[in-house]
Amino acid sequence: MEPTDEGIIERLQARVDAVRAAACGVCARNVCGHEILFSVAMGLGDKPRCLDCLAAGLGKSTNPFRDHLNAHFRQRHCYAEVWRRENQREGFASDSLPGCLWSAADPERADDASESSDGRVAVSDEPGVAVFADETWDAGDIACGDLVLGLRHRMSALTPRARLMLVARDPGATEDIPAWCRMTGHALLAQHHPHYWIQRKD
Ligand SMILES: [Zn+2]
Ligand SMILES: [Zn+2]
Repeated sequence: MEPTDEGIIERLQARVDAVRAAACGVCARNVCGHEILFSVAMGLGDKPRCLDCLAAGLGKSTNPFRDHLNAHFRQRHCYAEVWRRENQREGFASDSLPGCLWSAADPERADDASESSDGRVAVSDEPGVAVFADETWDAGDIACGDLVLGLRHRMSALTPRARLMLVARDPGATEDIPAWCRMTGHALLAQHHPHYWIQRKD
C-alpha cells in the first residue's frame, strides 16, 4: 500500500459511517452498508438510496447494475476494503457476495463477479484536440468517492449537453471515469489520461 491509501480508505469508511442505517431517500427503506457504498460511488453518499432505487433512478435493471458496481469495486482497493469491512459487519464472509443483495439461489453468488466486457465506452486514446469544453476542472489526485462526488457536483452545474474537461491524476480514474459515465448516462467524448472530456446528458 502507498502511504496515502490508509487515509483514503478511512475517509471512504467515514462517509459510509456518517449515514449508517439511513433510510433510502426514495422509498424510505433502511439501507445497508453495501447500499451506502454504492450510493457513495454514484455521488449520492449524503442521501443514500437502496439498490433498487439507485438502479431505477439511473434507468438500469437492479441485478446487472449491482454486478457491474461490484466488479468495479473489486478493481479499486479503497472500495474493495470498505466492502470487505461491510461484509464482516453484516455477518458475511469478507470475500463473499453478501446475502443482503444476492439471493442464495443467484448463480452469480457462486462465481467471482467479473467485469463484463460489454458497455465499454469507445473513446479515443488520442488527445482530444478537437474536443471543445465549456468548463474545466482540475481534480488533481482526488480519488475514489471524492472524485465522483466532485464530478457529479460539477456536471450538475452544467447546462444540458455542455462539456467538461476533467483533469484527474488518480491512476484509478482510467477505470472510474468511464464507469461513472456509463452508470450516469453522461457521454465520455474522449479520454487521454489524465484528461477526460465529458458531455452532460440532456
Ligand atoms: Zn429505495
Ligand atoms: Zn449489505
